Amino acid sequence: GDVKLKLIDSHPSCVALAQNRPIGAKRKTVVVTGGAGFLGSYLCTLLVDAGHIVICVDDLSTGRMSNIAPLQGRVNFTFMQHDVVNPLDVSGPVDEIFNLACPASPPKYQIDPIHTFKTSVFGAINMLDLALAQGARILQASTSEVYGDPEISPQPESYTGSVNTVGPRSCYDEGKRAAETLFHDYHARHGVEVRIARIFNTYGPNMSPDDGRVVSNFIMQALLGEDLTVYGDGMQTRSFCYRDDQIAGLMALMAAPLGTVMPINIGNPEEFTMLELAHKVLNLTGSEARLVFRDLPVDDPRQRRPDISFAKRYLEWQPVVSLDEGLARTTAYFQNELLDMKAPVLV
Ligand code: NAD
Ligand code: UDP
Repeated sequence: GDVKLKLIDSHPSCVALAQNRPIGAKRKTVVVTGGAGFLGSYLCTLLVDAGHIVICVDDLSTGRMSNIAPLQGRVNFTFMQHDVVNPLDVSGPVDEIFNLACPASPPKYQIDPIHTFKTSVFGAINMLDLALAQGARILQASTSEVYGDPEISPQPESYTGSVNTVGPRSCYDEGKRAAETLFHDYHARHGVEVRIARIFNTYGPNMSPDDGRVVSNFIMQALLGEDLTVYGDGMQTRSFCYRDDQIAGLMALMAAPLGTVMPINIGNPEEFTMLELAHKVLNLTGSEARLVFRDLPVDDPRQRRPDISFAKRYLEWQPVVSLDEGLARTTAYFQNELLDMKAPVLV
């Protein structure tokens, strides 16, 4: 018994785990802006579990403290309530920055379009300045919206897009495009190590029930027995990536030894119409709800599907969770959220 224990104990991974250090890597200090949001909170959780020191920066505009509540007691986790529109001071060294701060749901980013634009542009400048001062590597959460309403499908990174500068979505799309430019220029002028992830529609647990994007809307409506709101004729397409796949892609991109600035699409290339999505949600939940058709929002892209050849080649990454499986996991999450909302408050 003793001998076996010793052998196990001296295994590097056991030593690392016992010391709460990341396995096979040095312990890093990682800043995650937007860390209380849907994607950021899961990223923070994985990084904290791997033993890294995580500084979560969020203004809590669309993020929720409940997303990071399980991390609050961990010694290697710190939360800072801060708006990235303002410069950020971090005491001590920083190795990596994931810049995810920005409302992502159209109804949310349209509440205050000027602040959304500032979040992307000033936020990028402030975080790039932090990366420059710290010698840190920085990843930008860009978006498939840089392609606008695309004229080609699937969209490769070389496609420069078809974006309206003056419309309700422009604050988000153009803000994200400007941020990519800043990342490019901080690399070219200052040698900052940058990564640009063009994230395609991603869904999963920790999305807010009132987020307003299509997956959470449809699932919440089905669970509450309300009609599913299909915008337009429902024939527009999206390609949905499950959260865990997305975060694995972002982490692979941050770690990849890329010497140059190269935006990389991270998404799931399986494409569905919104009508197909609605029927999947109805089947999955067994809901009797019906579909109601609402006006298509202005500038709503007709199609969207990533070409992920780069991610496959340079990151050896590709999504593995099907839409059916991801929807089942996400539905289970929202069912729990509803139970919590209905739970009697004990006083
Ligand atoms: P989310 O709204 O759940 O998370 C965004 C987080 O950023 C929230 O916690 C919010 O409070 C915070 N935030 C917003 N403005 C801020 C500011 N000025 N200062 C500090 N914090 C601020 O959305 P998400 O889906 O988790 O998106 C995360 C990032 O990924 C965003 O940058 C988004 O644009 C990008 N992205 C997401 C998707 C997707 O499908 N989920 C697609 C493309 C790009
Ligand atoms: N959509 C819909 N019903 C909803 C919310 C959205 O039919 O309740 C449509 C929307 O018009 C768009 C697609 O679903 O065509 C994806 O919308 P979402 O807001 O999730 O993301 P984005 O438009 O930014 O890709």
